[in-house]
Amino acid sequence: MRIGIDFDNTIAGYDGLFATLAEERGLFQQAPVGKRDLRDALRRRPEGELTWRRLQATAYGARMGDAELQDGAARFIRICGQSGITVSIVSHKTRHANFASDGTDLRRAATMWMEAHGFFDAMGLKLSRDDIHFEDTRAAKVAKIAELNCQWFIDDLEEVFAEPGFPGSARAVLFDPHGAAVTAAGVAAGADLLRCRHWDEIGGHIFGAGH
Ligand SMILES: [Mg+2]
Repeated sequence: MRIGIDFDNTIAGYDGLFATLAEERGLFQQAPVGKRDLRDALRRRPEGELTWRRLQATAYGARMGDAELQDGAARFIRICGQSGITVSIVSHKTRHANFASDGTDLRRAATMWMEAHGFFDAMGLKLSRDDIHFEDTRAAKVAKIAELNCQWFIDDLEEVFAEPGFPGSARAVLFDPHGAAVTAAGVAAGADLLRCRHWDEIGGHIFGAGH
């Protein structure tokens, strides 16, 4: 069995980092915590979308080291390894951000972050570098999920499950820690989508209660 997992905001958490960066830049005295609330607050301002994209470019690039491992994610991956389940990380991540001029390699930043958190260590999460897939587009990402024949896919973004080409054989798990995701009208994934607020909840569904 193979489980596919998204990277940004599913394994790596940025809520604290986004708030810190926004405050450092003087955008807020006290920034809203939570990616969605911060993004929405910025978008209401002139040039807000650009400001938000620049903030993301920094968080996913130069300041990636300050991102947090989501609570319970490491435990989940470790149990997969112990249960003979292969974990593949499949991320829509271009090499460079469009809105950053510092030239940071975003894929390298993510890989270094995984190294720092023991993802490839024999005593750590024991993933292989071959288990990490960075794709240029969302379409390429779902094609990779299909190619890998993932039985489950875990992502914080509902749109991934609705993307044409998302394999019908993969069970969709929405990681929704704030419980605030709004189902867009016409999102195809609707009924079969499993919503979970915490990694332990995902583990309960996949490994059974009391895992
Ligand atoms: Mg994500």
